Amino acid sequence: MKENFNIAIDGPAGAGKSTIARKVARTLDFVYVDTGAMYRAAALYLLRSGLSKPSGDLTEDFRQEVCSRLKDADIRLEYQNGQQVVLLNGENVNPYIRTEEVSNMASIVSAIPQVREEMVRLQQKIASSGNVVMDGRDIGTVVLPDAQIKVFLTASVEVRARRRYLENLEKRKAGKQVSSEDLDLEAIAKDIAERDYRDTHREKGPLRQASDAVLIDSSEMSISQVAEAILNLYADKKGRPRVITARTAGFCFGVKRAVDAVYNEAENGSPIYTYGPIIHNEVVVEDLRRKGVDVIHTPEELEGRKDATIVIRSHGVTKELQQKIEASCARCIDTTCTFVKRIHEIVEKESAAGKKIIIIGNHGHAEAEGHVGWSKTPATIIENEQEAECFDGDKNIPLCVVAQTTFNGNKFSELVDILKQRQYNVTVNNTICNATRERQTEAGEIASKADIMIVIGGKSSSNTAKLYEICKEVCDRTYLIQTAEDLDLHLNGSEKLIGITAGASTPNNIIEEVQKDVRRTDF
Ligand code: C5P
Repeated sequence: MKENFNIAIDGPAGAGKSTIARKVARTLDFVYVDTGAMYRAAALYLLRSGLSKPSGDLTEDFRQEVCSRLKDADIRLEYQNGQQVVLLNGENVNPYIRTEEVSNMASIVSAIPQVREEMVRLQQKIASSGNVVMDGRDIGTVVLPDAQIKVFLTASVEVRARRRYLENLEKRKAGKQVSSEDLDLEAIAKDIAERDYRDTHREKGPLRQASDAVLIDSSEMSISQVAEAILNLYADKKGRPRVITARTAGFCFGVKRAVDAVYNEAENGSPIYTYGPIIHNEVVVEDLRRKGVDVIHTPEELEGRKDATIVIRSHGVTKELQQKIEASCARCIDTTCTFVKRIHEIVEKESAAGKKIIIIGNHGHAEAEGHVGWSKTPATIIENEQEAECFDGDKNIPLCVVAQTTFNGNKFSELVDILKQRQYNVTVNNTICNATRERQTEAGEIASKADIMIVIGGKSSSNTAKLYEICKEVCDRTYLIQTAEDLDLHLNGSEKLIGITAGASTPNNIIEEVQKDVRRTDF
């Protein structure tokens, strides 16, 4: 019989266990078991029955009262559409078990040995029926002592309290009911410290790191990084290649702001258009189209849009077009990236001061063409060595050089050097944005160590094309794909490391799909 594979994740409250365990389970197609939710359901049952939190130590009377009341509580876990649902006497109580009041009661109740025995029995039964990722406090030590992977996940109290506070803030923003206690950072930190104490000091099943558990401190790590570390432990056990996803893969700040703005507006119901596709990603553009957001491609299409909202995307547009858009619609939302705006300002000011504007960028790229339109005098786009060599400007007029924000950093320096060598009087503004620079550097670093490198991005995304160029130079087996469907990996079993990066317009869900497929690819 095939042995079940168990991954046990233990750690204190707020270390990110459930989010990470869920992500790991989704990637491996394992069942995620959130054992805390079971204790929470028991706590909710007790609170609803009128039992309140004892002020001092747990008395024997209180323990007996809890056990007697819980006799009537039937707690089960079910899976509906891949989501874990906690059933309390048949009722889905997922929406009610995440308050601070329930958290505190759960931590108190979970110290009662009889309660733990019953929960452990139920949890072991679930694990015996398939591959699971189970998180809690005593999974590696008591519930699944033979788990093939054990992780002890922790983070400082301050970091955990801040995370919980931000989570609660998001809930309130989404219109959910959140008490003032749940938004008091100091009170949350105090609660977490108290729960840590109770969890680590109880007699039965105390929270502690199993001797064979791997310690991960998530204070300085993102959710994806921790999940990847655990998935790489799994890869090691299975003799599969490790996978590293670049920290900088996917939406940059400017793109995220632009996409979020359109999604927020899409919910409003008024006619809405983006001038050009909001990002170079067909999946996102199509999703927005279904939500009623259409794309305008030409100035002529601005006619008859007096009632509409029109969004200028993060690439920006020429000054003339910006004024035209503003004049032709009810509301213009300008999501031009702040780094792009800065270039518009430089171009406008320096051209007015008599300099000739050179844009190191791609012909026909919306951002570069936009820059041209902010210059008071004719600007020139230079894309490659040949154009730099052949540029034929008046040597008496100084040049002001700027870069398209997503241009390849090394190539920019090379082209500037050619202009300098040709005795032009050049003022250089390296306006390649930091996010692009970091993304390119990290992609190159990962590709240089990887056996296979995967670059994800839209067909017309120039920053993605540059990432591909950079990676291909150092890793022969570099693939450029738009979505997971394009992935056609051929592993020969000798690969130790697969790297993944993605352009600034690649949404997270596409990156996650690729990660999942790479992890599951057979030799
Ligand atoms: O992990 P979560 O915060 O949802 O857990 C709620 C409470 O349940 C915790 O404070 C902890 O005291 C208790 N618990 C436990 N053993 C587990 C899981 C949770 O004691 N395996």
